[in-house]
Amino acid sequence: MELDNDILYLKGVGPQRAQLLGRELSIFTYDDLLHFFPFRYVDRSVVSPIDQLDGSAQFVVFKGIIRSMRTTATSKHSERLNATLFDGTGTIDLVWFQGTKWVKEKLKPNIEYLVYGNVSWFNGEPQMAHPDIEPFSYDEERHNYLPVYNTTEKLKAAGLNPRGISRLVETLLAQIGNSIPETLPHYVLKASNLMPSSLSLRNIHFPTSPEMLEQAIHRQKFEELFFLQLDMQYRMTSRKRQSQGLVFATIGEHFNNFYTQKIPFELTGAQKRVIKEIRADMKSGRQMNRLLQGDVGSGKTLVALMSMLIALDNGCQACLMAPTEILASQHFATFSKMLDGLGITTELLTGSLRPSQKKEIKKRLAAGEVDLLIGTHALIEDSVNFKQLGLVVIDEQHRFGVEQRAKLWAKNGAVPPHILVMTATPIPRTLAMTLYGDLECSIIDELPPGRQPVKTTHATDAKRLVLFSFMQRQIAEGRQIYVVYPLINESESLDLKDLMDGYESISRSFPQPQYQLSIVHGKMSAEAKAYEMDRFKRGETHIMVSTTVIEVGVDVPNATVMVIENAERFGLSQLHQLRGRVGRGGGQSYCILMTKDHLSKNAAERIATMCATTDGFRIAEADMRLRGPGDIQGLQQSGILNLKVADIVNDEPLVTATRECVARILDADPTLAMPDNAPLRLHIASNANKPNWEQIS
Ligand code: ADP
Ligand code: MG
Repeated sequence: MELDNDILYLKGVGPQRAQLLGRELSIFTYDDLLHFFPFRYVDRSVVSPIDQLDGSAQFVVFKGIIRSMRTTATSKHSERLNATLFDGTGTIDLVWFQGTKWVKEKLKPNIEYLVYGNVSWFNGEPQMAHPDIEPFSYDEERHNYLPVYNTTEKLKAAGLNPRGISRLVETLLAQIGNSIPETLPHYVLKASNLMPSSLSLRNIHFPTSPEMLEQAIHRQKFEELFFLQLDMQYRMTSRKRQSQGLVFATIGEHFNNFYTQKIPFELTGAQKRVIKEIRADMKSGRQMNRLLQGDVGSGKTLVALMSMLIALDNGCQACLMAPTEILASQHFATFSKMLDGLGITTELLTGSLRPSQKKEIKKRLAAGEVDLLIGTHALIEDSVNFKQLGLVVIDEQHRFGVEQRAKLWAKNGAVPPHILVMTATPIPRTLAMTLYGDLECSIIDELPPGRQPVKTTHATDAKRLVLFSFMQRQIAEGRQIYVVYPLINESESLDLKDLMDGYESISRSFPQPQYQLSIVHGKMSAEAKAYEMDRFKRGETHIMVSTTVIEVGVDVPNATVMVIENAERFGLSQLHQLRGRVGRGGGQSYCILMTKDHLSKNAAERIATMCATTDGFRIAEADMRLRGPGDIQGLQQSGILNLKVADIVNDEPLVTATRECVARILDADPTLAMPDNAPLRLHIASNANKPNWEQIS
């Protein structure tokens, strides 16, 4: 089809520009260019007076007459042309370095011109290089919206400024004329009141009116979200039809012994429900792909452990992968303690083991002598082989890259292990729908009984003494305290200095031997960190001064105060994670957010949100709103949410609408065999080679 043509062949492109377009903007084909949308529009009917230029305006439109022209030779063969434009309020220099001869012939005195382009400042004077210029004529039919495209310095040097790109698009549209295919079924267009594809693409580049532009954008957003949903839902339906999984038919003595002998409390209703969901998945004969969401402290780890016991009961091994060594060691310690006396062999595999220790564990693992393996990234090394891996639990999912997960997937030969992904970062509904539409999702929406919400307050340095005496009272009551410093970039020595200064000031107010302090930061060795963590866990130290290494999963129920220094420098989800470290035991817990006096609007809102709620989902929504969806943790790297026009924060209704629309289509026609659905079948077929969640989740 013509749209697949190499961009090289478009009139006005050629080899050099083609290479640049590919490299700089990922435009390789006609279709890529057609879908390279303007990032904004300039209304040509809004003319700026020259004397109102204030240095901020980039792209402007002037209307005036040419007063004078002069050329200056710049080398033997080239010259510069300056023309002075006067609009009644002032003058501005228009400059050309190329094609001057042609411009000189074209420009006439006493004709009113419309001039548009980017203003730049040269020696304090405004000028406009290579503007677009055309005789002004009043014409209602003429579209006034001018597209502005993103471009780069390299492209500009090759003559492709925003205007140059728009000329290419113009050429393209003229050439492919009516041959732009419709990508959505006609009945969808009709039911959802959408513009046809070709009309919408024309209008998104060259709007004929504001209303048409709005409809064109709407149609493109719909299309984008629609296909995202189609990809996910189609995959999920076909996976349900085809993919085989290990069948865990029984619940045996491991699970039952643990349940009856080892759990000192009643499971929450949510925990019971989720375990049932997981159990149903694992005996269905299909592979489980489940996302387990639950706020910090909601008891996900226990659910994971019990799921792993089901795998053991069915003759399989299970593993749990954690994002840091501290967390992995902690899970290992918790599991070892909880499983004590049940005859289950549990091992810890991390990067800091000696090679001989690693080798030994791997040998026993391959021989089936290890039941549960807990570890970090070390688990995914090729040399780690299981005898029969039945379940993989991935903790704190957003810290793992896509390829890393793909490797675990392949660790059980032909039949993939069941996968349970746990995250304590609540995901807003729209994001979950868009991102995990093809994972089954379980939510633990209930905290264990007796938990009191963490009391959160905001304070500045003026309150430091009050804070210290509060901390002393808490310690006197037998409680422990975290003081956390931001370490945005572990290599930043400034951050480390903050931490050390803070540590010293705390040491002065909390002198030994009455008070014992621990310190943990990224520059310490793994053993030194583990040693300090252990002392704090055993209650030998009162205060843990640390960087964000304690962010996820650390569990010390006796710690009831979380002081976060420079809290304005943390993002909302990070603050929420940190706060989740306290409030895990029975007692009242506190979180104190220390900031400087003057906060940006955004930081003030983050702090206010934290003080107002402990609900992880509300915090996640606020986080997404404040940061914008592109910035949500892990999304950038995942490359999965690569939206061009739609935006899941502001287009929530469309996310829902497209999701329902796709669900109805697949319900009626699961294999997309109906003639009406031909465009959708085509889309699926052309995407067949792209990586997808089946390989990566
Ligand atoms: P998460 O992994 O979701 O952050 P954890 O599984 O670490 O939460 O649980 C937090 C704490 O709550 C642990 O100390 C755990 O033993 C305890 N806990 C878990 N489930 C319950 C329950 N049903 N009742 C009481 N305490 C529980
Ligand atoms: Mg946890």
